[in-house]
Amino acid sequence: MSLDFSPLISFGILFLVFLPLERLFAIHRQKVFRPEYGTDVLFFLGQYVLWNGFVVYLLAWVDHGLDRLPLGSVRDWSTALPLWAQAIIVVFLCDLGIYWGHRLQHRIPFLWRFHRVHHTAEHMDWIAAYREHPLDNLYTRSIENLPALLLGFPLELLAGLIVLRGIWGLVIHSNADIPIGPLKYILGSPRLHHWHHAVGKGNDCNFANLMPLMDVIFGTYHEPREMPERYGTTEKVSHNYFAQLAAPFLPQVARRESGRRPRETPSATESETAAGAAGVSDAGAAAQNRPDSVTATSGAGSKSTSATSPPCESSSSSEPPTTSPA
Ligand SMILES: [Zn+2]
Ligand SMILES: [Zn+2]
Repeated sequence: MSLDFSPLISFGILFLVFLPLERLFAIHRQKVFRPEYGTDVLFFLGQYVLWNGFVVYLLAWVDHGLDRLPLGSVRDWSTALPLWAQAIIVVFLCDLGIYWGHRLQHRIPFLWRFHRVHHTAEHMDWIAAYREHPLDNLYTRSIENLPALLLGFPLELLAGLIVLRGIWGLVIHSNADIPIGPLKYILGSPRLHHWHHAVGKGNDCNFANLMPLMDVIFGTYHEPREMPERYGTTEKVSHNYFAQLAAPFLPQVARRESGRRPRETPSATESETAAGAAGVSDAGAAAQNRPDSVTATSGAGSKSTSATSPPCESSSSSEPPTTSPA
């Protein structure tokens, strides 16, 4: 049996590509091997060695199932279009799916318990992009590819877009404010996605992955001049790789989230009153019960929650989680 060194080779190539970029265009001064680097390397290896194959297998299984649906006339129409038109449709539909899929990850407690793993990263760089629970990754990959699979677009087109999305996913997490000029209107930038990871801010802005267009359309685009100072979540989480994989299934998480019924969710005024009476840490605990809340207490290290940066999605900052994006 021969050993497969391709994950290590991929890691080495990506490391060498991003090392100079994150030095030249550094957003934050941080060590290359910053805290929790090893955790994110395990997430990287886990995706390469185990989970990616599982995701590909499941997508192929879904694709096979879709072939049995009466989609012939729709597929005849879509595949007769010129390739450039197919590419535009695929990118638009996939971005639409990812955008709302991502917003639901922040609003539905069950989805949030898996997506929260991605938001536990407290240092942003290219490898932090790999910090994803495998089931969260499966959810995203399914939504991302479903429109194209339904419309029967050629696999070469899909493969190209999947690679582009994968690479750009690393770029938007990187610690490099690479000047991309007017392309910033077409491609999401680290500046935008870093704000999505900012403590207390990530739940209400910049949900798009490839194009910021959806954030512009749905009013969640947020691009202040300054960069966030702190990343992560206000929730108490373990940063151990295996604990992160198990965390969504733990009873403690379920208990905490079972209290998220709308009538039990305090209004903003009540929260502030409670926070004032109980202290800062209790306010943080209140925020733990609402993944889509903007946490006033977490703004200490982040300029995003200051008066100069209003919430981008006003409706979600105070509403309880719902099962509908509307
Ligand atoms: Zn998110
Ligand atoms: Zn991210």
